[in-house]
Amino acid sequence: MARRRRGNTLAEIGEDRLLAGLMSELSSSPEVQVGPGDDCAAIRLGGRDWLWTCDAQIEGTHFDRSWMSARQLGRKAYLVNASDVAAMGGAPRFCLVCITAPSSMARRDVLAMQRGMAAAAAADAAIIVGGNIARAGELGVTVSLLAEAPRSPLLRSGAEPGHAIYVSGRLGDAALGLASLRRDRAAKGLAVRKFREPTPRLIAGRVLADERLASAVMDLSDGLLTDLKRLCDASGVGARVEIPRLPMSRAVRAAGVALALSGGEDYELLCAVPAQREDALMSLRDDLGCSMTRVGVFTRANEGLVLVEADGSTRAARAAGFSHFGSVQRPTR
Ligand SMILES: [Mg+2]
Repeated sequence: MARRRRGNTLAEIGEDRLLAGLMSELSSSPEVQVGPGDDCAAIRLGGRDWLWTCDAQIEGTHFDRSWMSARQLGRKAYLVNASDVAAMGGAPRFCLVCITAPSSMARRDVLAMQRGMAAAAAADAAIIVGGNIARAGELGVTVSLLAEAPRSPLLRSGAEPGHAIYVSGRLGDAALGLASLRRDRAAKGLAVRKFREPTPRLIAGRVLADERLASAVMDLSDGLLTDLKRLCDASGVGARVEIPRLPMSRAVRAAGVALALSGGEDYELLCAVPAQREDALMSLRDDLGCSMTRVGVFTRANEGLVLVEADGSTRAARAAGFSHFGSVQRPTR
């Protein structure tokens, strides 16, 4: 392994720059419809289109074992993958699972983890078809999910200036739940539940794709500002977000809007909707399985990311959500 040079550690370059460097070295093939850089890859195999994603839950990075049961951890390991599938309008089908665990871990906990994962997958008509187990110092669960693709997968790259910004559900609950668990591992309530058990917006994603309601979509895993910046970069646009419009619970509002802007783990959908599709979106809102709130508008790229306060004043937004290896890290250390 290479000796560490200044400016070359993962902490120094951060997650997004690391990914950009890795992606630039990958090759493609005619079967690849959507390559790296979106929520899932899209591939055509045997005359059918598939979405393919993977995501990990790692002890010390994503969770502390005192915050959730083994069954809840298994559920969450599946659900965060399903959220990536929802973001492209797909339907989950097959999972592979890689578990890394210390030798001291109880067998019943590994079984409970698998059962939680299998039950969550079954609720979406998906199944676990295999995997791998390896010994490690910390507990980790990685799921790779294969899903049926819609006719036109939702991508991050289609937003244009003037398209409205919509988010599903509410923002900040999971971050508030995480903050509660850090203070008191016995904490309960809706916010804690939202942290332990995200709700992938599979129905909304499917409707958005089938009805061609959105020009760009991604799921919110690392905080609105961080992920909005990613969508803006992929689409070549800027964005104006109106703070008073952000859908937040009273508890999140009281705890501070930063939870909704940068808290992370919302697993809601961030969508760009062309003006001429907004009426159609509203007419289908009862079919989405969640609320959809207009929170701003996409602008030209040179306008950057701007936050509009209740009094109309504006300020440039600084993305401060979660980044693996970067300066803003979550949650246990
Ligand atoms: Mg995602």
